[in-house]
Amino acid sequence: METQSQVVDRLRSVFRSGITIPVEFRLTQLNKLMSMIQENEEQILKALHEDLAKPKFEAIMSEVDIVVNELYFAITNLTSWIQPEYVSKNLATKLDDCFVRREPLGVVLIIGPWNYPLHLLLLPLVSAIAAGNCAVIKPSEVSAHTDRLMAELIPKYLSQDCYTVVRGAAEETTTLLLNRFDHIFYTGSQTVARIIMRAASVHLTPVTLELGGKCPCFIYGRVDIVAAARRLVWSKYFNAGQSCVAPDYVLCSPDTRDALLPALRQTLEEFYSKEPQTSPDMSRIVSPRHWTRLMELLTRSAGKVVVGGESDREDKYIAPTVLVNVAEDDALMAEEIFGPILPILTVESLEEGIALINRQEKPLALYVFSDESSVVNTVLEKTSSGGFCSNDGIIHMCLPTLPFGGVGTSGYGSYHGRWGFETFSHRRACMLRGWALERLNSLRYPPYTETKLSW
Ligand code: NAD
Repeated sequence: METQSQVVDRLRSVFRSGITIPVEFRLTQLNKLMSMIQENEEQILKALHEDLAKPKFEAIMSEVDIVVNELYFAITNLTSWIQPEYVSKNLATKLDDCFVRREPLGVVLIIGPWNYPLHLLLLPLVSAIAAGNCAVIKPSEVSAHTDRLMAELIPKYLSQDCYTVVRGAAEETTTLLLNRFDHIFYTGSQTVARIIMRAASVHLTPVTLELGGKCPCFIYGRVDIVAAARRLVWSKYFNAGQSCVAPDYVLCSPDTRDALLPALRQTLEEFYSKEPQTSPDMSRIVSPRHWTRLMELLTRSAGKVVVGGESDREDKYIAPTVLVNVAEDDALMAEEIFGPILPILTVESLEEGIALINRQEKPLALYVFSDESSVVNTVLEKTSSGGFCSNDGIIHMCLPTLPFGGVGTSGYGSYHGRWGFETFSHRRACMLRGWALERLNSLRYPPYTETKLSW
């Protein structure tokens, strides 16, 4: 068995051979990745169901199709992305060829999380392949079935010389991180991100950190309360709230809260029935450990449960839950919830809501629900977040022309579509000069006479 450092060394020498550079090679690998997804869709859906009880619809939409769309987008656009980008010139460079060349970085490491274990592992891989890199791919051990399936399928479809899956938990990843990579792309918690950044600093390796945080949903002013409840419930309870861009908490006025609650109850019943535990459309919490963390948060909260609250440890189930009377210093506001628990906080004005958002760390996504464009624009102008979406949740991340990533503690760097290709490329500044105008050049050579200074 190859050791981890032998794997990295092998990939590095393969990278140096130049095999990943031709666009034909990259396109072949991307097409093979597409075949892997399409030919094994049933197995993939089964693994996702075993890991998280993901409903088939959600798994197709947020895991399979999103990867297929990213692949399709990269395959369609790669030839134009890799073209040199000619830049404007000044008088002194008029005769030169001045352009930016996208070059692969080398051997990159991609570390995936468990909540969308296919999507969040393969989307960065699409970008890494498109940009011409070799890659070590480390799926999350927590989503064990998808982890195993990826380790089985990837070597069957992709070049084993260029792409290797390394499995393991914290211990194996710690050893893996001792190796020198040319880029580390990490998706997961802020705590582990600090470990990754420390390890990367030893080799001065650049990192992309796709992290999380508390994404607010600010409902303010005139609003279609029924549509707002439906979009909020869908984006919050999708994957049982285990989405980095799920609305984490709601901010609204007391009047809006009173109107929203019956609409939330009705929507939840419509989507997941009166007994959500029996609904095939409600995912489960990924592990007993994560279930316990969520139940502890719920127990420590001083808020009042007005919807849900039921749970079943054996089944890793937590009902879609809504709480009111939640204060800013409540346990539920101290960390990212990452589960099907939705606190509602009230504010008296737009300014008060904006001030509350700005007292928190910058979120990965910020949602504003309002019919009033002045409300949407004011929140957009006066806050900062990785992404922003009005009158819906999650959906902004499905458009490959928008960059996806955080700001502040919600992340560092971005990807999707061309943005991902750029993340995994070095932008090499090139100036190709000839020997012309040497007399003009002599103006900058010593001796630096007074005449030259007066120019
Ligand atoms: P995690 O940090 O526990 O695990 C992610 C990866 O890190 C796994 O592959 C795991 O094996 C590895 N890992 C765990 N401990 C490690 C250690 N000590 N040293 C090295 N590697 C280690 O994260 P998670 O629980 O899987 O994910 C939840 C978090 O990720 C949430 O905060 C969520 O918001 C965030 N997230 C962000 C995005 C995004 O795109 N921005 C997407 C999904 C999840």
